[in-house]
Amino acid sequence: MPAGADDLDRKLLDAIERLGRALRVARQRIATTLGVTTLQIEIIDRLDHLGPLPVGRLARELDVTQPTVSDAIATLERKGFLERSRSTDDGRITVAQLTVTGRATAATIRDELHALQPDPHQAHRPERAIALEVLLREILRLQRAGVITINRSCFSCRHYQPPTGGTPAHCLLLDTPLEPAQLRVDCPDHDPADGPDPPRSGSRSGPAVRRRGSAA
Ligand code: SF4
Repeated sequence: MPAGADDLDRKLLDAIERLGRALRVARQRIATTLGVTTLQIEIIDRLDHLGPLPVGRLARELDVTQPTVSDAIATLERKGFLERSRSTDDGRITVAQLTVTGRATAATIRDELHALQPDPHQAHRPERAIALEVLLREILRLQRAGVITINRSCFSCRHYQPPTGGTPAHCLLLDTPLEPAQLRVDCPDHDPADGPDPPRSGSRSGPAVRRRGSAA
C-alpha cells in the first residue's frame, strides 16, 4: 500500500461521517419542527420515493427491526401522515402508504434538505461527478462486505453496462448513457446483480454485457 494511503482512506471516511452528521442534524431540525422523530422523517421520505411499501420491506430499507418501524408507522398513522392496508397480493402483509398530508410533508422535507445543496453556479461539476463515482464504489464495497444491506445504485444493477473504449457507460434498461454525473444512487428501476467491480470511467475494457435488443 502506498505511504499515506491508509491515512487517505481514514480521512475519506471521516469526511463522509462529517457530512452524514450534518444531514442528521438537518433532519433532526426538520423533525422537531414537524413534531415527529427522525425515523418517522425517513419513513415519510422512503414512502414518497418508493411508493406504498410492506412494513417488513420498510424495516429492511431503514435497517431497523420490524417492531421499531411498526411503532413509528402507528404514530404516523395517528397523526394523519400515512395509512395502512392489507396487501391485495397477500392479506397477511400490511402495506403503508402516504396520505395527501404525508405527501405534502414529504415535499416540505425535500425543500428543506434542498437548502443543503451548493449553489449550482459555484459547484465544480466534473469534480463532483468523480466524487459521486468514488462514493458509489465505496457503497458497493461496503455492500459486498455485508456492512450495507440496501444498494440501489448503478454499480450494483444488472442493467449497468460499463464503459468500453471511448463509449461511456450505459443503462441497458433505460437505453441512456451513464456519464459519472448521471449515475443514480437510489434508482426505482434498479435490478440487483452480482459480478465483478465495474471498471473505472475511461477504462478501455470491461465485462461484456449485451445491450438490450442486441444479438446474443
Ligand atoms: S436501471 Fe437504474 S440503477 Fe440500473 S443501470 Fe439503469 S439507471 Fe442505473
